[in-house]
Amino acid sequence: MRLERAELARELAALEAAQQRRRRRTIDSGPKPAEPTRLCIEGRELLNFSGNDYLGLRTHPALIAAAQAAMGRFGFGAGAAHLITGHSREHHALEEELADFTGRERALLFSTGYMANLGVIAALAGRHDTVLADRLNHASLVDGVQLAGARLKRYAHADSAAVGRALHGGARLIVTDGVFSMDGDVAPLPQLAALAQQHGAWLIVDDAHGLGVLGTHGRGSLEEAGLDAQQVPLLVGTLGKAFGTFGAFVAGDAVLIEYLLQRARTYIYTTAVPAAVAAATRAALHLVRTEPWRRERLRALIQRFRTAAAAHGLPLLPSATPIQPLLQGDSAQALRTAAQLEERGFVVSAIRPPTVPRGTARLRITLSSAHSDQDIDALVAALAALHAQRSAA
Ligand SMILES: *Cc1c(COP(=O)(O)O)cnc(C)c1O
Repeated sequence: MRLERAELARELAALEAAQQRRRRRTIDSGPKPAEPTRLCIEGRELLNFSGNDYLGLRTHPALIAAAQAAMGRFGFGAGAAHLITGHSREHHALEEELADFTGRERALLFSTGYMANLGVIAALAGRHDTVLADRLNHASLVDGVQLAGARLKRYAHADSAAVGRALHGGARLIVTDGVFSMDGDVAPLPQLAALAQQHGAWLIVDDAHGLGVLGTHGRGSLEEAGLDAQQVPLLVGTLGKAFGTFGAFVAGDAVLIEYLLQRARTYIYTTAVPAAVAAATRAALHLVRTEPWRRERLRALIQRFRTAAAAHGLPLLPSATPIQPLLQGDSAQALRTAAQLEERGFVVSAIRPPTVPRGTARLRITLSSAHSDQDIDALVAALAALHAQRSAA
C-alpha cells in the first residue's frame, strides 16, 4: 500500500532526480489541415517529428466532413456500450470494412488499443496458461497477461528460438507487436507463425504501427511477411496512428470474434466510441486503400532520412519503418538533445526507462508522408550539428 502522502512525494522526487519525471506539452493549436506536421506550442510553431500520424490523415478534410455528417445523425456521444444501444450503423459498417481490409471473417471495435489487448488476452488466457511475450512488447500486452492471471514468460527481443523452446514446454499463446513501437523494427513473424502452427499454439499480432504503413496495400506487417489469417488467427490494430482517428479493433474468424464479443470485458463494460469517430475512420480507411502514394512517399522519406543520417554518422537503430530511434544512452542526454532540438524548432520525444531498457534512452523520431524533403533535411542538419558538438566536447 502506498497511502502515505509523504511516500508518494518521495517517489516523485526520486523520479525527478533520475530524470524520469514526465511532463506534458500543452498544444495551443494545430495542426492545420494543410500542414499536418506543424504544431503550435507555447506560442511557437514547431515541426513535429514525434506523432504517429504516419500518413498525414489526422487533419484530412474527408475525415472531418465524415465526422460532422455522422454527428448530425447520431449526436456526439455514443450514449451507451455496444451491447446496449451504442452500436451504430457507422460502427457496424466500419467493422465490416476492417474485416474486408484485413482479409478476415469479422472485426470487432474496441475503444482503445490498450483496452483491446487487455480484453483479448484476458478472454483467451487463464490462470493455467503461459503466455509468451517479446521483451519489447507494448505495455498493454504485458498488462493483458497480468489481467488474465496467466503466467508471463518474456523472451529476448525477436528470439524465435526461445519461443520454440517455450512451446516445447507447453505454452499455448504467443503475443507480439508487429512493428515495435519504440524501436521501429519488425517481429520475426514468419518464424513465429510457423512455430505456432507446428505446436498448435496461437499467435496474436498487435500491428498498431504497421497497419496502413507496411505492405503494398497497407495491410501491415502481416501483408509484408506474406502471412494470412490461417497463420495468424488474431490481429489487433489501432486507429489512432496511421488512420489518424481513435480506437482499435480485433480481426479474426467468426467464432473467435463472437467469443470476444461475449467475453472480452473491456469490450462489454465500456461506452462505444462516438459514431462520428467510426465515420471518420471509414473515411481514413478509404484513403489508406485508395491512396497508395502516401505509403510510397513515406518510404522515400524514410530512405532519405536514413541515408542522410548515415552520412553524418548518427547512431540510428536498424529500422525500415517510420519509427527511427536515435540512441542517446542516459535519460539526461536524451532530454538535453530533445530540448536543444526544440530550440531549433523541432519536436522530438525523448523516450526513457522504464518505457525502454536502462541505458537505451533515445530520441524517437517519427516520419510522416506529410513531411517535405526540406523538413527531413533540416532535421538531419540539426541532429548532425548537435552530434558533432557532442563528439567535439
Ligand atoms: C499505441 C499502441 C497501443 C495502444 O493503442 P491506443 O489505441 O493508443 O490505446 C497498443 N499497442 C501498441 C504496439 C501501440 O503502439
